[in-house]
Amino acid sequence: MRGSRALSVEQVTVGAERVSALVRIAEGRPLRTPAYPDLVPAVRTILPGLARHRCDSGSAHGIFAELDDTELPHLLEHVALELMALAGSPRSLRGDTAWDFAADGHGVFRVSLEYDDDLVALGALREGAAIVNALLEGDADSVDIASATARLSAVRQG
Ligand SMILES: [Zn+2]
Repeated sequence: MRGSRALSVEQVTVGAERVSALVRIAEGRPLRTPAYPDLVPAVRTILPGLARHRCDSGSAHGIFAELDDTELPHLLEHVALELMALAGSPRSLRGDTAWDFAADGHGVFRVSLEYDDDLVALGALREGAAIVNALLEGDADSVDIASATARLSAVRQG
């Protein structure tokens, strides 16, 4: 059902230290979190560990001030890192969100995540996108962090 969702994860690549993906925001959808006032409070409720995140591109007022006014894929980056942490990955892993609309197209971002286990990181991107999409659709009841974490832990190698 690509196209009906706000966020889609495309063109995943695995590098030596990072996984990266193109994250596309559906045409016509706002790109930044202030357009979705219920989103960050909902994310904060279901993933309280986000309070421990630091952000290299971040606001001096802390992670939630940053997420309250940022690009949707940057929020996804932090959601994915938190899911990875809940699935046992080190909290020292960092992510990055960048974009080059001239090269990639409007609304296309490049999200990368350092990883300890590439499959966990890739899974976290996909689980994170599904969670953000569900919240954007007002379907918070379908979000089950414990199940998402269990699925990620199950793909961990070794
Ligand atoms: Zn950040």
